Amino acid sequence: MAARLFYTDEHDAFRTEVRKFVQREISPHIEAWEEAAEFPRSLYRAAGALGLLGLGFPEAYGGTEADGFHKLILTEELSRPGSGGIIAGLMSHGIGLPPIANMGSDALKQRFIPPILSGEKISALAVTEPSGGSDVANLRTTARLDGDHYIVDGSKTFITSGMRADVITTAVRTGEPGMGGVSMLVIEGDTPGLTRTPLKKMGWWCSDTATLYFDACRVPAANLIGQENEGFRGIMQNFNNERLMIAGMAIAAAQVCWDEALAYARERETFGRPLSKRQVIRHKLVDMAQRIGSARAALELLTWRVDQGQWPIAEVCMLKNTATQCMEFCAKEAVQILGGAGYIRGVKVERIYRETKVLSIGGGAEEIMKELAARQLGL
Ligand SMILES: Cc1cc2nc3c(=O)[nH]c(=O)nc-3n(C[C@H](O)[C@H](O)[C@H](O)COP(=O)(O)OP(=O)(O)OC[C@H]3O[C@@H](n4cnc5c(N)ncnc54)[C@H](O)[C@@H]3O)c2cc1C
Repeated sequence: MAARLFYTDEHDAFRTEVRKFVQREISPHIEAWEEAAEFPRSLYRAAGALGLLGLGFPEAYGGTEADGFHKLILTEELSRPGSGGIIAGLMSHGIGLPPIANMGSDALKQRFIPPILSGEKISALAVTEPSGGSDVANLRTTARLDGDHYIVDGSKTFITSGMRADVITTAVRTGEPGMGGVSMLVIEGDTPGLTRTPLKKMGWWCSDTATLYFDACRVPAANLIGQENEGFRGIMQNFNNERLMIAGMAIAAAQVCWDEALAYARERETFGRPLSKRQVIRHKLVDMAQRIGSARAALELLTWRVDQGQWPIAEVCMLKNTATQCMEFCAKEAVQILGGAGYIRGVKVERIYRETKVLSIGGGAEEIMKELAARQLGL
C-alpha cells in the first residue's frame, strides 16, 4: 500500500487516469502482443496524447511537470498487465532522451524532444556493445570527425527499441582510451550505413531488442550531445535514473505476483480447504509481502531524496538489487502457489517469472551494483 507521506490527491487522480489508460489500451491486447513479439506504434501516440511520455521533461519541449512519484505511479500502473516488455518498449525514451534533455544544445532539444514525447518518433539508448556492457568506459564504437560530420563505425547490442527507433542516443569513442574519450551522439534511424538485426529473448517478448551495426555512418557534428569526450558523466547520470526505474518495475512486478497468488490461493481448494488456509501457503504470502513492503519503503524514500536533489548512488545500487531479488523471490513463490496454472503461457506470473533475469542484468548487473556500492561506501 502506498504511504500517504509521499502521495497527494493529485497523485491519486493521476493514478486513476493511468489505470484507465492501461485497462483500455494495453490489458486487452497484452497476450497477443507478447505472442507477436511486438506492440503497435500507435500506442506511443496514445500515451503521448495523454502526456504520459512527457512526464518530468521540460514543458518548453512538450513535457509535463512531474515529480518522482508520478513516474513511480506510471511504472506501477503500466506493470499491472504483467508485462515488463511493454514498459521497456513504450518508455525507452526514459533512457534515450535524458542525455539530450540534460546536456544537448537547444537546437537538438527543439528537434528531437517534442516528436518523441508526442509519440511520433521512437527513442533508444545505445551503450552496450558485443564486446561488453558492464565496462562502459572501454566501449569501442568510434566517431571520427571529418569536416562537419562524424564517421561512426562499430556495433551496439541488446538495444531496447533498437529495430524501430528513429532517434538513437549513442555512446561513442571520440578520444583517448577510457572514460575520458567517450561522447554521446544522436544518430537518426535512417542514417545510411546503419543496419539492424532483431534479437529473440527469454522474456520481454513484446519489446523490440536489436543489434545495431554502424558502417561508416555520416552523422552531423551538430548531433553531438554536450561537449566532446564528456559523455561518460551523462551516461552515469542516466544509469542512476534507470536504476531507480528498474527498482520500481521490479517491485511493481512483485506486487502483481502477490496479487495473483493471493487471489488464486483464496479460490483454489485442495483436500477440502482453500490454499490460503494452509499455513505453508500463508507463510509464502507473508514472505512475499514482507519483501515487497521493505523494498517499496526504500524505493519511496530514495525517490523522495532524488526529488530533493540528492544522488545517493550507493543506496540506489543496493535498492536495485533488493528490488530485483524481491521480484525473483515473489515470481518463484507465485508460480509455485499457482501450481500447473503458473506454468501456462498467458498467465501473468509465468511471464513475470521469465522476466526476472533481465532486471538483475540490465541497467547495471547485480555484481556491478555491488562493486559500485562498495566503492561509494569507501570499501
Ligand atoms: C532485454 C535487454 C534489454 C537491454 N536494453 C539495453 C538498451 O536499451 N541499451 C543498452 O545500452 N543496453 C541494453 N541492455 C544491455 C544491458 O545493460 C547489459 O546486458 C548489461 O549492462 C550487462 O552487460 P553484458 O551483457 O555485456 O554483460 P558483461 O558485462 O559481459 O557481464 C557478464 C556478467 O559478468 C559480470 N561481471 C562483469 N564484470 C564483472 C566484474 N568486474 N566483477 C564481477 N562480475 C562482473 C556481470 O555482472 C554479468 O553478470 C539490455 C539488455 C537486455 C538483456
